[in-house]
Amino acid sequence: MTDPSRITLGVIADDFTGATDVASMLVRSGMRTVQVIGIPQGPTPAADAVVVALKSRTTAAADAVAASLAALRWLQDAGARQFYFKYCSTFDSTAAGNIGPVADALLDALGSDFAIACPAFPENGRTVFRGHLFVGDQLLSDSGMRNHPLTPMTDSNLVRVLQSQTRSAVGLLRYDTLARGVEAARSGIAALRADDVRLAIADAVSNDDLRVLAQACADLPLITAGSGVALGLPVVYAERGWLVPDQRAATLDSVGGSAAVISGSCSSATNAQVGDWVAAGRPAWQIDVQALAGGAPVAEQALAWAAVEGRQQPVLIYATAEPAQVQQVQSALGADRAGQLVEHCLARIAAGLVDGGVRRLVIAGGETSGAVVQALGVSSLRIGATIDPGVPWTQAEGRPLLLALKSGNFGSVDFFAKALDLVD
Ligand code: ADP
Repeated sequence: MTDPSRITLGVIADDFTGATDVASMLVRSGMRTVQVIGIPQGPTPAADAVVVALKSRTTAAADAVAASLAALRWLQDAGARQFYFKYCSTFDSTAAGNIGPVADALLDALGSDFAIACPAFPENGRTVFRGHLFVGDQLLSDSGMRNHPLTPMTDSNLVRVLQSQTRSAVGLLRYDTLARGVEAARSGIAALRADDVRLAIADAVSNDDLRVLAQACADLPLITAGSGVALGLPVVYAERGWLVPDQRAATLDSVGGSAAVISGSCSSATNAQVGDWVAAGRPAWQIDVQALAGGAPVAEQALAWAAVEGRQQPVLIYATAEPAQVQQVQSALGADRAGQLVEHCLARIAAGLVDGGVRRLVIAGGETSGAVVQALGVSSLRIGATIDPGVPWTQAEGRPLLLALKSGNFGSVDFFAKALDLVD
């Protein structure tokens, strides 16, 4: 039966915007969901699901395992009935892990002998067929992910990729088994277990496949997946009497105040979004990174401008630039120093805007979002309505402050204005 003092689902996410992505999926189907940044210190939030956002995707495998086990213990104490290890829909990992080692450690800690592994997210073009991951119409190894600076993905065969990271036997739960329905999927899992397979890559090319997977895994303590499989879980929990879906799960407070956008992402999607805002004649201020490096009081200048311009309408403050411009700055300052200078400056601006009465803030960029959330002293976010796939509005827990945290390549070209239109 439902028990308001315990959570139903505990999620361990290997990065910050990935955590928001899976949280958004759960809220959409009526689970009240809170995302916590790192392992929480305070009491258990009143929610059906808690997503612990770690930064464990590219750390040393031993560190990722230790952080994931600590998160698991906290979620067990909070009463979670099932656990979910969330990774990226492009299976981002290094040769050493961390998907395999973390999945092994969680299975050991839970005393379990089996979990699926399924990064598929068909709504965002990520599908798995016969164990091979596609990004749109391309195999993963032909997609841009092959050039990723930290986690280059050069093999699309996920059975092989995962097997190289784990001591467990890795198998495949194939699409034609899923197509025959939940009972067939359960039998497929039983057959894999009988063969001593401990982790099975699961095919999924549609939301129907994800729903079958969620049902077939209902009795397993652990699911490992991208955000897709989460789509099917609330129905499963409702059927078991563990959840009363809440039609208002995505409702956040009306916070009033003024609104602003901060952008530190230089991805092509964000460049287009900044261009769209500027072309519409909305107020925008570009950070001069060279002046910033030279010691100019750029944050103060931007805040003084926003104090005047922001009285009437939302403002955009951005460091976003085209690749050639970014490269020029990086070769003068070094990529790390440039990144940190800009992140620090944007985080100070965000704090200044909130001090000045901004209550609805859109932030573009994964690292930029991390820096801003830290500067604002936010450690817990309640998840609201989805703006675009993978990007919901969120509310700083217990505060009249709404934040939309957009990772670089997400969102339609009019994302900023669209996001601000959704909240008041
Ligand atoms: P994304 O989600 O698109 O990867 P991030 O915020 O994670 O965006 O990363 C963008 C990085 O680029 C940040 O470290 C940011 O500070 C840095 N940056 C932003 N604008 C500039 C610029 N004009 N020149 C150099 N670096 C920049």
